[in-house]
Amino acid sequence: MMVELRNLNKWYGEFHVLKNINLEVKQGEKIVICGPSGSGKSTMIRCINHLEEHQKGDIIVNDIPLNEDIKNIEAIRKEVGMVFQHFNLFPHLTVLENCVLAPIWVKKMPRKEAEAQAMELLERVKIPDQALKYPGQLSGGQQQRVAIARSLCMNPDVMLFDEPTSALDPEMIKEVLDVMIELATEGMTMLCVTHEMGFAKTVADRVIFMDGGQIVEENEPHEFFNNPQHERTQLFLSQIL
Ligand code: ADP
Ligand code: MG
Repeated sequence: MMVELRNLNKWYGEFHVLKNINLEVKQGEKIVICGPSGSGKSTMIRCINHLEEHQKGDIIVNDIPLNEDIKNIEAIRKEVGMVFQHFNLFPHLTVLENCVLAPIWVKKMPRKEAEAQAMELLERVKIPDQALKYPGQLSGGQQQRVAIARSLCMNPDVMLFDEPTSALDPEMIKEVLDVMIELATEGMTMLCVTHEMGFAKTVADRVIFMDGGQIVEENEPHEFFNNPQHERTQLFLSQIL
């Protein structure tokens, strides 16, 4: 098991944002998470690498329990890569520097090795020619591909995506999805919050629908789209498809 959430509960102050979430993700599995805005999707995946703190229940990543032990938190963060809606690249650093920063400072990798690895991954996301530019000089689609390459530079076992194409112009969505599909084909364990239902149908082993801080429905994609069980899922699908 790569990621386990057991009875996960989280509150923002008085507001109960995640309610008894249970989820098991096996190595190599691809999970797509969808649901209305405010349903807790981002909060749930941000809990997995402790960008948000949970109050109740267990999170276990690759057999490491996420608890107060800073060693465990650091160990989990090394195994979990995350890609955000707004790329979150360092604007004052070149693409290459964005990619070598964590390997050098967190993994103590020699610079030469870090740069070689970064170039290899920039090739994989098809922008090696942009390595010496600054994020602001790149299109949104290119920036998001840099963000994916930067995550992969830490050699993660799991990748979390939080609406990676939602901030992109339509013509750039495909180039990012293509990179994600390739990553999936290579066997990466992935949890993707996305409303790209074509991606879900192609790639997902399971689709999860969240509403009101709960997992309302979970199924393999064909059944999920063709035979949704819950009224809330049916309503949601009728609005986005
Ligand atoms: P989603 O990603 O599904 O749109 P979020 O996880 O971002 O949902 O948010 C779930 C709920 O928690 C929303 O009602 C949102 O307003 C609230 N929320 C998110 N972040 C915070 C925060 N830092 N403090 C208080 N409430 C928050
Ligand atoms: Mg969100």
